[in-house]
Amino acid sequence: MARTADFIVIGGGIAGISVAYELLPHGSVAVLEQESATGYHSTGRSAAVMSENYGPRLWSRLVTATRGFLENPPEGFTDLPLVTDRGALFLAQAHETGQLQAQYDDLIARGARVELMPAADALRYCEVLRADKYATAMYEPDCKDVDTNELMMGYQRRIRAAGGAVVTDARVTAIHRDANGWRVDTTAGEFHGGTLVNAAGGWVQQVAEMAGLGYRNVVPFRRTAVTFDAPSGSNLHHWPMTFDVAETFYFKPEAGKVMVSPVDMAASAPCDAQADEMEVALAIDRIETFTTMKVARLSHRWGGLRTFAPDHEPVIGADPPDAGFIWLAGQGGNGVMASAASARLAASLAVGRGIPADIAALGITEDAISPGRSCVLANEDVQVGSAEAIYGAD
Ligand SMILES: Cc1cc2nc3c(=O)[nH]c(=O)nc-3n(C[C@H](O)[C@H](O)[C@H](O)COP(=O)(O)OP(=O)(O)OC[C@H]3O[C@@H](n4cnc5c(N)ncnc54)[C@H](O)[C@@H]3O)c2cc1C
Repeated sequence: MARTADFIVIGGGIAGISVAYELLPHGSVAVLEQESATGYHSTGRSAAVMSENYGPRLWSRLVTATRGFLENPPEGFTDLPLVTDRGALFLAQAHETGQLQAQYDDLIARGARVELMPAADALRYCEVLRADKYATAMYEPDCKDVDTNELMMGYQRRIRAAGGAVVTDARVTAIHRDANGWRVDTTAGEFHGGTLVNAAGGWVQQVAEMAGLGYRNVVPFRRTAVTFDAPSGSNLHHWPMTFDVAETFYFKPEAGKVMVSPVDMAASAPCDAQADEMEVALAIDRIETFTTMKVARLSHRWGGLRTFAPDHEPVIGADPPDAGFIWLAGQGGNGVMASAASARLAASLAVGRGIPADIAALGITEDAISPGRSCVLANEDVQVGSAEAIYGAD
């Protein structure tokens, strides 16, 4: 028998689960996830940090607007902290110092705590850096590790307690529109709903095509990550998330190991992404070039998809030809850290309430995030350059 909900959300990653939670006050919700568990794709493969200096301009503002939720979740949402202190270091070579200064000025204007210093001083945060390779460093003490699993669990407990459904093994295979709303065929049966939310991560463009909307330029790129043993006797647990401004690598402590990514961004079909062997080799080379660590043996390697519009900014709101088709997409590397505000924003636009005042105050407009903006409609290449480079140039 067909099941009915006011809001049908396609995708059981952080985007779909968080927007379903934000829609609960406005009607019934059903989240459809093709895998046997939620969070299997990008959400379960992230570095799980929150930094207000990460990502393009509008995404980084949505991080600012998410911080309050993650630091002080609603009463009863979880018994565990959703975030723990990590700190972040950003390392600039001499010719990148102006870019780092611009990021510093912007963060100060947003009320963030940051400190600029000569690169040598960064050794007090992470003793394995080859500080002589850099000129300047910036430390962001309020960068946090996010407990993504607990965040997902908190949302799902609330959805189920409110009578909402999170249906796994429910791959959407066809979407039909009629005067009453949407009919969605899945491998777990048929669902009917008035509003469809496209939160399918790397698959959002395919979902739009199934719904008859045509091509939308929001497409996935693969990123590789590995973990390895830290040198014995190191102060690993206190190390910050460490980025270089040129965006050639980052590393952080991860469950007693060191996680490193060569920050690759390779166009990919939507898929169960795997680590790229060439990128694994690059990750090791960068760690051994820019730190004093040697990588003897890898513990784990994985790949994940990050999905972008050509300008790297959010794709949130109604698709212009169809106000009943809502996007929450294009999160790139900010999907976990900006989840609460982007979900609240998508839900508000889905019910015709516009941009919440606190988010509008950060300079986010409907036009700038619209799925109908020209770069999303155009079949132009997504910029493969780093999100930070785009942010820095803004
Ligand atoms: C290596 C790496 C490091 C990262 N580090 C960070 C970080 O430190 N901080 C941060 O904030 N972000 C980080 N990110 C980015 C973050 O992981 C993503 O932005 C976020 O997880 C995207 O969430 P999502 O829900 O849109 O996508 P997903 O988690 O991929 O969820 C989409 C879901 O839709 C489902 N789906 C697709 N098609 C269908 C269909 N037809 N029917 C039913 N279900 C369907 C998929 O199975 C999937 O589960 C990182 C990403 C990577 C790869």
